[in-house]
Amino acid sequence: MSKKRNFTIIGGGQSGLQLGCGLLAAGHDVHVVQNRTADDIRTGKVLSSQCMFDMALQNERDLGLNYWDDVCPTVDSINFCVPAPDGSGNKAIDWNGKLDKPGQSVDQRVKVPAWMAEFEKRGGRLTIHDAGIEDLETYARESDLVIVASGKGEIGRMFERDAEKSPFDKPQRALALTYVKGMRPRPDHSAVNFNLIPTIGEYFVFPAYTTTGPCDIMVFEGIPGGPMDCWKDVKSADEHLAKSKWVLETFLPWEAERCREVELTDANGILAGSFAPTVRKPIGRLPSGAMVLGLGDAVCLNDPITGQGSNNASKAAKIYMDAILAHGDKPFDAAFMQETFDRYWAYAQFVVGWTNALLQPPPPHVLNIMGSAQAFPELARRIANGFNNPLDFFPWFAVPEEADAYLSKLAA
Ligand SMILES: Cc1cc2nc3c(=O)[nH]c(=O)nc-3n(C[C@H](O)[C@H](O)[C@H](O)COP(=O)(O)OP(=O)(O)OC[C@H]3O[C@@H](n4cnc5c(N)ncnc54)[C@H](O)[C@@H]3O)c2cc1C
Repeated sequence: MSKKRNFTIIGGGQSGLQLGCGLLAAGHDVHVVQNRTADDIRTGKVLSSQCMFDMALQNERDLGLNYWDDVCPTVDSINFCVPAPDGSGNKAIDWNGKLDKPGQSVDQRVKVPAWMAEFEKRGGRLTIHDAGIEDLETYARESDLVIVASGKGEIGRMFERDAEKSPFDKPQRALALTYVKGMRPRPDHSAVNFNLIPTIGEYFVFPAYTTTGPCDIMVFEGIPGGPMDCWKDVKSADEHLAKSKWVLETFLPWEAERCREVELTDANGILAGSFAPTVRKPIGRLPSGAMVLGLGDAVCLNDPITGQGSNNASKAAKIYMDAILAHGDKPFDAAFMQETFDRYWAYAQFVVGWTNALLQPPPPHVLNIMGSAQAFPELARRIANGFNNPLDFFPWFAVPEEADAYLSKLAA
């Protein structure tokens, strides 16, 4: 058994609190610095649509952090639709792939306050403070390792942008979330209903659990400058809901049909904004020369189009935890930090590649795959389960010759 060590984690979100609880369970001292109180988070605006799939959920189960399995509706499949280009309101593509194991989305306004309380109950030290660089100097002196898991928080800018791994320097989508009650369930089983509207954007929707109970989360991804980039003039929650319905009525009549009776879960059940997907270098150097290690969105921020951010954050936290525990009593130096991130990047590079590819107009082989899934249930199921384990998309989703070979095999 190695000696007890001290960790400070800046940011108590998906990755920070999961890692914090993991390190506590291994007998270490953990200090989490969070810039908002549990009440601020609970009563504030929604933060994400946070749909998570089985592998990431397993990391939570392993730490006993899965408190919502009995109340959170399950996400049982991925459904993919493309509207017909003739404006008839029909679907050109429509298929459904069942997930081998269900996903779930627990509103971070529910999850994070509960995890903050649990972290303290398990012996963690929680400080409510908006940490700055000066604070990091103090924490670096006090701790064996400082981890910055600050999500999209400003402090993450201390990590240098990795231009090689970041093909975009501007937002690729205008994003909006609308949390609603009263949506008509889809037939058969639940799904992430993913709709791709060529040249306009994407809309996906799935069941979730929020502060007021079960709900559905609508996610809008508008191509900048297009008609779904439509949130800037929206001034109230009611206008936001009306705009959400307008998008569906205009482009996706089958989704509008499900939404005749919807109302917002609460006035804060909305969000609109945009950001550039960005990968950063994992080691942050403080003015004193001390180093800190970045985790989660702070160093690997993806567009939500593939719904991978929380999944990535969970998987990264698990990889970091395993690396820390395997490191024993040795110092957490630059080599450790780089190797730990590289271990995560060995996985995350595929998620980033897949996500960034979906932000671009699809090449012919991807159109072929997405269209063929309607004829081949096995393909539909494989694509659906790729959301749980995106490594399974490679190489056949990325390389045209591999895609052709795989599709020919399916057709044989
Ligand atoms: C519109 C939208 C939809 C999304 N949908 C999905 C989805 O369906 N599935 C999915 O997997 N992911 C989704 N995501 C992404 C997902 O929410 C994030 O990737 C995930 O929460 C990242 O976890 P994290 O631990 O890195 O950061 P976060 O969970 O953001 O946690 C960071 C924490 O650090 C705190 N903090 C920030 N700065 C400081 C500071 N200076 N001092 C102290 N504390 C600080 C923040 O307040 C926050 O509590 C979505 C994101 C958006 C924007």
